[in-house]
Amino acid sequence: MKLLRFGPPGAERPAVELAPGRRLDCSAFGSDFGPAFFDGDGMARLARFVAEHERELPAVPDDARLGPCVARPHKLFCIGLNYKKHAAESGMAVPSEPIVFGKATSSICGPNDDLVIPRNSQKTDWEVELLVVIGKTARYVDEDAAMAHVAGYAVHNDYSEREWQLERGGQWIKGKSFDTYAPIGPCMVPADQVDAGNLGLWLAHNGERLQQSNTNDMVFGIAAIVSYLSHCLTLEPGDCISTGTPAGVGLGFDPPRFVRPGDVLTLGIDGLGEQRQTAVTWEQHQARQEPGR
Ligand code: ZN
Repeated sequence: MKLLRFGPPGAERPAVELAPGRRLDCSAFGSDFGPAFFDGDGMARLARFVAEHERELPAVPDDARLGPCVARPHKLFCIGLNYKKHAAESGMAVPSEPIVFGKATSSICGPNDDLVIPRNSQKTDWEVELLVVIGKTARYVDEDAAMAHVAGYAVHNDYSEREWQLERGGQWIKGKSFDTYAPIGPCMVPADQVDAGNLGLWLAHNGERLQQSNTNDMVFGIAAIVSYLSHCLTLEPGDCISTGTPAGVGLGFDPPRFVRPGDVLTLGIDGLGEQRQTAVTWEQHQARQEPGR
């Protein structure tokens, strides 16, 4: 059972995918997939609800827009330079402790929504990443107990505006937080259904595959990251942690490659599904939001 959400931005409804092509609208479950859902043993309650009501649940329309697969979390963190080759292409040392930075939760969007390039921006870059969704409050958790606090996993494209991130002073959060810079989904796969420490992940820019790696190449694994963060803050149910990107980002090329309007980004992780974003300018996006103006 995979979790997803569909419908217009800001008005998504919860749904589940029981098999490829078999997606059921779970609006009748009465709870969106946000912090309260995860805090209240929502995964187990949802499984019971679906088992009981499967036959009467309406199908999700095939042409429905997918929203982010989890509702807006309290926190969205990212881990920097967590694949060795990516640290090298960035010209930085492999870190001795996890590099942690934040991303505004307002940047979260659906997996196939347009990427909106910010006004006057030239350096939007891509980063395919495995996203961890926290299921239980974690505070001073040892590494060997950390995985029990994970609800599931999803695909995340940690879009980064390199000028705002790297050339305009601290901190990285500035270059990471533009609207639509955090497509999450298509679905959240529960932690017990996937071996998250050994998943292939890839990204293609206009059809050219530029990132290709495996989560087994991370510097700090998922348990280490969850434990580490739990020693400097409280991880709450629904919080999301993006675990870093492998080599092949645009910044790593000579000359660098960045996203231009009209470009298409496709990306995926084994077992977690695929995303597709088309880049548009801020002006194009505004014109679509306000037809006739
Ligand atoms: Zn990243």
